[in-house]
This record gives sequence, structure tokens and C-alpha cells, in this order.
Amino acid sequence: MEHRLCIVGGGPRGTYVLLHMLAAWETRPLPARLRIHMVEPVQFGAGAIYRTSQPGYLRLNTIASQVTAYPDDSVVSSLPLLNGPTFYEWSRTSDNGLTVESYPSRPDTGRYFAAVFRELLQRIPPTVTIECHGTAATRMEHRRRDEWTVHLSSGHEIRCDAVVLAKGCVASATNPASLADEFGLPQSVAEERMIGRPFPIEGTLRRLEPRKTIGIIGLGLTALDLIRGCTFGRGGKFLREKRRLRYLPSGDEPHIVAWSRCGLPLMARGTNQKPFDEKVQGRFLTDDVLDRLRSEKLRTCGTAKLDFGHDVLPLLVQEMAHAYETAAILQDGQAGQAADRSAENLPAFRWAQLTCPVPSSALCTENKFKSFFLDYLRWDIAEARRGNMTSPVKAACDMIRDLRDRIRYAVEFGGLTPDSQRTFVSGFTALHNRLAVGPPVEAVEELLALVEAGVVDPYCGPQPRLQWDSQSGQLNLCPFAFSAASRELSVVVNARTPPTDVTTTPCPLVRNLLDGGHIVPYENGVGETVFRPGGIAVTKSYQVINRHGRAHNNLFAVGAITEGCTWYSQVLARPYVNSRSMRDAACIAQSISDYFVTRDKVRVQSAEAALRKPNPTELNRKAAPTRLPCSSPNQGRLEGISPPASTKTTVPSKTPVP
Ligand SMILES: Cc1cc2nc3c(=O)[nH]c(=O)nc-3n(C[C@H](O)[C@H](O)[C@H](O)COP(=O)(O)OP(=O)(O)OC[C@H]3O[C@@H](n4cnc5c(N)ncnc54)[C@H](O)[C@@H]3O)c2cc1C
Repeated sequence: MEHRLCIVGGGPRGTYVLLHMLAAWETRPLPARLRIHMVEPVQFGAGAIYRTSQPGYLRLNTIASQVTAYPDDSVVSSLPLLNGPTFYEWSRTSDNGLTVESYPSRPDTGRYFAAVFRELLQRIPPTVTIECHGTAATRMEHRRRDEWTVHLSSGHEIRCDAVVLAKGCVASATNPASLADEFGLPQSVAEERMIGRPFPIEGTLRRLEPRKTIGIIGLGLTALDLIRGCTFGRGGKFLREKRRLRYLPSGDEPHIVAWSRCGLPLMARGTNQKPFDEKVQGRFLTDDVLDRLRSEKLRTCGTAKLDFGHDVLPLLVQEMAHAYETAAILQDGQAGQAADRSAENLPAFRWAQLTCPVPSSALCTENKFKSFFLDYLRWDIAEARRGNMTSPVKAACDMIRDLRDRIRYAVEFGGLTPDSQRTFVSGFTALHNRLAVGPPVEAVEELLALVEAGVVDPYCGPQPRLQWDSQSGQLNLCPFAFSAASRELSVVVNARTPPTDVTTTPCPLVRNLLDGGHIVPYENGVGETVFRPGGIAVTKSYQVINRHGRAHNNLFAVGAITEGCTWYSQVLARPYVNSRSMRDAACIAQSISDYFVTRDKVRVQSAEAALRKPNPTELNRKAAPTRLPCSSPNQGRLEGISPPASTKTTVPSKTPVP
């Protein structure tokens, strides 16, 4: 008896699921074989984001000691532990100079995940076979009730009993047409002068010509990648002089004008001072408090859904204020904890300073804004260097990251009212990104050096306008917050993170699953008010819900595609803190294993029942003439991939995968 599972997407999450599936198979009550098909077009283990062939100067915004591909004792799961080295432990075997606190490169991270993937292929139990398909899945269908056929872009197809979608980002298509629409530009201009998606980054960098003035929309992690690629990546050097960096240009840099919604970049991450194997627990924002709030809501409003701004945010701000006060007290050399007080009574912590950091005095002229921008970066760097427990402001911001699981508990699976979830997605998530998951402090130091060297120009302030001058054929950038001369841009790159949207994603597999009604966009609805955050509907155990509102028992989804039902579900697993990413993978593997066990039992029961009954063919033989066996068109296809062996892309389980 063989069960067949297909995991679509072989990046970090596909690897977590694979690993847990192998662990689950060790505890099976009935002996059975398992065939796992891994489908990944870019690189097994590393996936597209951590592909090892990308430039080494692209960094993670997670420290080395907070990345793992293996679960550990902290992960709450009933599966046996299949453990192995964390990223940091693994990296100590090579001479790459990483410390616990350093920010590794993306290709190094990819090398770790690829090595884990290869290691798993070596560790498979004798009852398991893994087939790797280095291609994309393009569509899926049910040909039999409990069997999926997964079609690959290579033309092959895989028959399987269960599928896990671990395919990463399902963003809406940011194409020239949508950019033209958003910025009020002719489509031909957007096509010629705008780059909607900067990844893979090598192709985009080729279009950013030396000495031309280019624009970058967004001052987040993608913008910093592009800026690094155009400077350090082209031979420029950052020299450390005393406590600051100075940039020595190579002469091949473009002149970069970059901007964001608020005009500022993401805040630098405070240098880590917390034990890497401990997660800070909340004092005010706890599951118990949230449960009580829900019961109260149910009693008074008839719905247990919370309002984030009203019910949850004040608790989070209280946590931040407490962390701020504690750091401030420690900083003054006074040991001890800040007394529990409500946020309103804490004058030192100013939430508004974090949410609206640009004062109106900075928005008068180009020079005023630029000088504010430089001062802001210097202040941010100094605070980040003090550390995430010593700097009051970094301690406060780090609380948001520490309490992410509590926020999830409040907001996920319809935890908020539809209106509140809408503002949470559009407002709070962006704020969370700016305050809590920014770049390493070195990246902000580099940005400061580049602005001082005149390579990066933040002159335009928040939300400037792009204008097309058809007379001169120029694409111009005009500040909005103050009057200043416009700048002509040769190319503009959209470096904003596109929102998850399964209804507009160009991914053929997702479109096909939607058309077939196998997946549906998640809707958070109360009465007439409905909000669709962008991802698909899944149950709490990640079973995909179909157009009839029923959960598939053999189709699962994990990661970014579930955004909306879940929140911030795409980050890498962190060791020693009962990582949510690991729990998700364990939960899926357990459900699939249970599903296969149930199928086994049903098969065994029907086989036993068949043995007890008289054989109908024996009975029929008396009535019907003997027939020669005939081959069905599906014969030979039922146990896996159907195309001729000559065109198979299967890699035997023990072959190293690139
Ligand atoms: C530029 C960038 C930097 C990031 N840096 C960090 C960081 O520093 N720290 C952090 O925690 N998170 C970071 N993230 C978030 C990132 O999403 C996660 O770290 C992680 O990659 C998520 O793993 P995943 O397996 O869910 O998705 P992915 O890594 O995206 O893997 C999904 C895989 O599915 C494959 N795939 C897609 N479509 C198909 C298909 N149709 N058929 C088969 N396979 C398919 C893709 O090739 C891809 O390899 C970053 C994201 C980006 C975009």
C-alpha cells in the first residue's frame, strides 16, 4: 500500500513540511509506503528567495542565531523530533565569520537550507521515496474523488493522494498597466520606464545605468537591496572612520532618488541583547486577556470579534511603554522593573512619535527635509547601537516583534471585525514593518553614508508625484509636501512589497485552483460588511476550503497564500521559541499522516469485508463467458508520474540536488 503526497514549493516551508512528514511516518501504526513528490522550479531547500546564485551582498534582516530549518524541544507537537543544526550551528562548520548576532547573506542562508534538504534525502526511512521535480506546478485537478493530478510546466503530471501548497508569495501583479493606473501615467511610459517587480534583482540592476538619475519607490528592505547592488555591488567601498561610515564611490553608481509613504526608511533593528533561546512574554497583551475581551464582546455586542484599534492596540502600546520605561530605568543605572502603569500615565513613551515621525517643520523646504532625514538616520543608528534592551525606543519597538504570536492570537481566523481587519492590514502591518522588522543597523549606516556622499537623494519628502511631460518626453518627480524643483528620472523601480491577492496573482496554478473552485479567497464578514484580505480560506489546521465552504481533507496550504486567515505567516522559523512556522508544518504533517492512516483502515476494512463475502467474479464466471484481460488507458499511471520514462525529471532520492 503506497500513499502519494505532493509538496508544491520546495523553499523553507516546503522543507519544513517534508521534514515533519518524515518524522510523522516514523510513528505510523500500520506499515505502508509513502512517496513524496517535491516540486520546486528554482532550488530545493533554498527556494527562490534564498537561491544560492544571487549576489552575496544581499542580507537577511534576521540574525544568524534566529534561523533554523529543524524543530527543537520547544516546538509543541506530537511528532517525534527529527532534529539537526540551526543555521548558526551549521555555519560554524564553515569559515564565514558569522557570529550569533550577525546578519547572514541570503545565499549563505540558501546554502544552509539546500544542505538541510540534501540531508533529509539521506535520512529517509526505507518505506519512503522522495522524487524531486525541478519545475513549476501549473494546474491541479480531481480526476478521481480522492486523488489529485498535479500538472507541471514540463508537461508531466503527478497523481497523488494529498497536496500541500507551500508556494510562497501570491502577490497581485504589479505590472506596467497597474503602475500607469496608480500614478496616472500613459501605459507606454510605465512600460518603458517603470520596473514593477525588482526580483530577481540581477535583471533590475542591469537596467539602472551608471550616472543616470533613477527613482526607487519604497524605502524598505527591497530598496536597500537595490541601493546596495548599485553601490557596493559595483565596486563602491564603505570605509569605517571612527564611529561612522564614509562611502568611496566607484563611479558606476546611478544617482538614486528614493522615497516612501512617510518619507523615511524602516527603522534599524536594535542590536540584539536578548538571549537567543528565549522569547519575551507579554504582561498586558496575553491570551487570557484576549479571551476575556472576546467573552465580553460576545456578551455585549453578540460577536466575539475584536476591534484592533480599540481592544488590542492599547495593550500592545502598554507593553511597548513598559519596555521603554524598563530600558530607561536600566539606562539610568537603576535596577528593577518599571511599575505597572497604563500607557496614558507614561509621559516618557510617545507612541505618536513612532507613528508620525516627521514633524511639520521638516516639511517646509527641500533642505529642511534633507537635514531632518540625516538627523533621523543618525539618531536611529545611535539608538540601534545601544541595543534592544538598553535603548528605550528600540526596546519598545522590539516588543512588537516579541509579541507577534499574541497579535496573531488576536487577529487570525476572523479574530477582528471586517472593518478593523481592513485597517489592521493597511495600517498596522506597514507600521509593524517600519518599527519592528527593519534592516540591520549597518544597512542604515550605509544609507547615511550614501546620502552624505550625494549618491542617494531623499530630497522629495513623503509621497511625491510622478509626472509625464509629453512635450519634452521627460518622466519627472515632483515633491508634494513642499515646493521644490522637479527631477527627471530615467527609470523608476517599484520596491514596495506587493500585497497578497489570490484574485489578481499571475500565478497560473492559483488561478486554475480558483477557477475550479478548489480554493476561494478568504472573506471576513459580519452582516453586510465583508473584507477580503487577499489570501485563501483555510481551517486552523491549514486544510484548504473550497467554493462550497467545505474543507478538503487532502489539500493543505501554508505560508503567504494563507495571509488574511493568518498574519505574517511567511517568516523563517526561529529556534528554541516554539516557532509558529514549525508548528504549522508539524500540524500539516500530522493531519496528512492521520488522513493516510484513515485511508489505510478503510482499505483494510473493505479488503476484510471482501474476503468475508462470496467473490462476485466467482459467481459471475458461471454466468458470463471468459474474457481476456484488457489494458485500461490509465494502466501504469496510477502509481506516480505518467509520462514516458525518457522525459521524467525525477531525481532518485539519494542523488544530490543542486
Ligand atoms: C527579498 C526577501 C527577503 C526576505 N528576507 C527575510 C528575512 O531576512 N527573514 C525572514 O524571516 N523572512 C524573510 N523574507 C520572507 C520570506 O518569505 C521567508 O523568509 C521565506 O522565504 C518563506 O518561505 P516559503 O517557503 O513560505 O516561501 P518561499 O521562500 O517563497 O518558497 C516558495 C517556493 O515555492 C516555489 N514555487 C512558487 N510557485 C510554484 C509553483 N507553481 N510550483 C512549484 N513551486 C513553486 C518558489 O520557487 C519558491 O522557491 C524575505 C522575503 C523576501 C521576498
